[in-house]
Amino acid sequence: MAASRSVRVGGALRGLAAKSPLFARAQGVQVTHKRWLNLQEYQSKKLMADNGVTVQRFFVAETAKDALEAAKKLKAREIVLKAQILAGGRGKGVFSSGLKGGVHLTKDPDVVGKLAKQMLGYNLATKQTAKEGVKVNKVMVAEALDISRETYLAILMDRACNGPVIVGSPQGGVDIEEVAATNPELIFKEEIDIFEGIKDNQALRMAENLGFDGPLQQQAADQIKKLYHLFLKVDATQVEVNPFGETPEGQVVCFDAKINFDDNAEFRQEEIFAMDDTSENDPIETEAANYDLKYIGMDGNIACFVNGAGLAMATCDIIDLHGGKPANFLDLGGGVQESQVYQAFKLLSADPRVEAILVNIFGGIVNCAIIANGITKACRELELKVPLVVRLEGTNVHEAKRILNESGLPIMAAIDLDDAAKKAVASVANK
Ligand code: GDP
Ligand code: MN
Repeated sequence: MAASRSVRVGGALRGLAAKSPLFARAQGVQVTHKRWLNLQEYQSKKLMADNGVTVQRFFVAETAKDALEAAKKLKAREIVLKAQILAGGRGKGVFSSGLKGGVHLTKDPDVVGKLAKQMLGYNLATKQTAKEGVKVNKVMVAEALDISRETYLAILMDRACNGPVIVGSPQGGVDIEEVAATNPELIFKEEIDIFEGIKDNQALRMAENLGFDGPLQQQAADQIKKLYHLFLKVDATQVEVNPFGETPEGQVVCFDAKINFDDNAEFRQEEIFAMDDTSENDPIETEAANYDLKYIGMDGNIACFVNGAGLAMATCDIIDLHGGKPANFLDLGGGVQESQVYQAFKLLSADPRVEAILVNIFGGIVNCAIIANGITKACRELELKVPLVVRLEGTNVHEAKRILNESGLPIMAAIDLDDAAKKAVASVANK
């Protein structure tokens, strides 16, 4: 799955996750909302550069040859080559070509060409991607700068304080999640009143908390203000810079960039939304869409087959509550056909991570008997190997239960959602 695009956060973690992407990740939760547009680093950095934020000079390449050319053109003392995928943790990632590290520094343009060859067209797996990783179609070739200190900076919309919050830590770099988990006192926050905007003293205080000294403090504060203005201007839900670093020459630089955008703002951010790169979309998601089914991937092992987004969320939460982890949810929607039920099962059972399937359908518009027929057909034809727990309620449910009972298939019937979740979690735990 394209981890950074998918998601949602379960139960009690939601509050924490809403506060900060790094808190969420420290909990092993992905917080990027499914609907939030996510851009590649090079696209985010272009937006930053256009808005007065300091980033390195760079080119983007799709072939090793172009990467080599770009490296030469930069005429830099040192070059940094970075795989462009939406997930973070690239520095410590591994390519399917065997190459270790999605971020490489070198002084030799020829090395850039050779490394790019081992990146482009291969999958890069990081802590934030699925095991198989994400295919790399582009690399960024940038002028490398020495970094004397790495800090962490993020601006996000925080539900708990009804507006933007700036989150920062003097201990930035690749292991920021670790800092959030073990040294929470090193995480600083600055709540911004969206109507009054960011105050000079707030930006300065954050710069100071991040450990910027002397003239660097003003420079960092200035960068923070520019990032905040960009955050508002592009209708971002999150701007994350890690590392937000300083160079020995006394420059504050955004070495990495991750911006998510509020999809509700699409109508007034046409240029940004036109940059959406769907090549990282989950193929299962695309396949599901072909049958008018909505699929959302997560990282657990219980597949959820539901109708309606509300029921999907409730199902995921209750699985969470009983100690399980949803693998995904597939939303049937309203006017469902038996063939869609079959396709849905086909998709779910093809996912190797799925160890149990939980069906939770409330028949309002949907006729439960159609679902039951779809389920029994799918079970037989696909020779379903994983435990199946079914909770049906609503229209024509008696007929549906009869169909399931008389099918002779090993289907676990559940009386309600709680019961269904318990049974699904237990079936996985007993394996
Ligand atoms: P991520 O691993 O996906 O977060 O990718 P980053 O862009 O953050 O790069 C990972 C790490 O590489 C950073 O934390 C830096 O330590 C290092 N790095 C990235 N760019 C540069 C650079 O221009 N110069 C130096 N010296 N290190 C860099
Ligand atoms: Mn980074």
